[in-house]
Amino acid sequence: MKSPVHRCRDVDHGRGQTGTVAVSECLQAEQRIPVSKDVITSSSTSGLWFIRDTCGIVCAVITWLLVFYAEFVVVFVMLLPSKNLIYSVVNGTVFNSLAFLALASHLRAMCTDPGAVPKGNATKEYIESLQLKPGQVVYKCPKCCSIKPDRAHHCSVCRRCIRKMDHHCPWVNNCVGENNQKYFVLFTMYIALVSLHSLVMVVFHFLYCFEDDWTKCSSFSPPATVILLILLCFEGLLFLIFTSVMFGTQVHSICTDETGIERLKGETGKWGKMPCWEAMQEAFGGPLAFSWCSPFTGLSCRKDSEGHAAVMQGEIIEEDVITIPLS
Ligand SMILES: [Zn+2]
Ligand SMILES: [Zn+2]
Repeated sequence: MKSPVHRCRDVDHGRGQTGTVAVSECLQAEQRIPVSKDVITSSSTSGLWFIRDTCGIVCAVITWLLVFYAEFVVVFVMLLPSKNLIYSVVNGTVFNSLAFLALASHLRAMCTDPGAVPKGNATKEYIESLQLKPGQVVYKCPKCCSIKPDRAHHCSVCRRCIRKMDHHCPWVNNCVGENNQKYFVLFTMYIALVSLHSLVMVVFHFLYCFEDDWTKCSSFSPPATVILLILLCFEGLLFLIFTSVMFGTQVHSICTDETGIERLKGETGKWGKMPCWEAMQEAFGGPLAFSWCSPFTGLSCRKDSEGHAAVMQGEIIEEDVITIPLS
């Protein structure tokens, strides 16, 4: 077989960069780093995933600080001074459990590879190893020189192509993709629940303080108590609305098997859509179980092998980026 005829096109932005320059650059760069199937499979599954983006890191730290602020007000302003021990123990347990699950989900969403395509795998050797049939075409990302599986998009913050990328979220300092969408959904759910719970407790505490003497309802002075409670109220309302909307949007995206980017770009219908329940099971890693709500159960291994299998079988023949010649 003759060497493949290459055609580059920036599919992310539709600029139509046609020509052989970008391809030859990619191939030259890759020739310095031999890429084998083993490397491709292991590079996205091993090691800690963390995006070094200043804005994202600041947003992630702010998220944790806001949770710790809520924790402080709930425990030290509302629950500890309360005379009702059962009320304090029950609400303290529920609130701390939800806050712990929210932060654990945040950590998993932030430090899980969202489904990154190995950088620079668009080598001549790798394309030949795919054993594509004559006339078949595959996507190639001109920015990270990778062969893009179907439904992958390039993220300029992560500087990688991400499989089933929904969006890049600075609050979790990571892309939301096929491997960490579950953790992101859980993060929004637990933050919404913890916000709702703290709002209910603030209302009860205000009622309790109005009925009782203000000096006895908190270990802080009445003005400090009011300011701390109002700030928590504001934070709770803001995050309840924000995370509820995000949770609803994410569940809708999973259910309709269509990512946020695909909806924005109007790419609907280019792939065989899964039924809602099947898509939910795929995103949450199996049949409906308690593990759906746990940020400690993973799903990356199965999904990773599936993602690469799609490339290996040369099933991506949607648009021409690299075309295998007919003879
Ligand atoms: Zn890319
Ligand atoms: Zn990203």
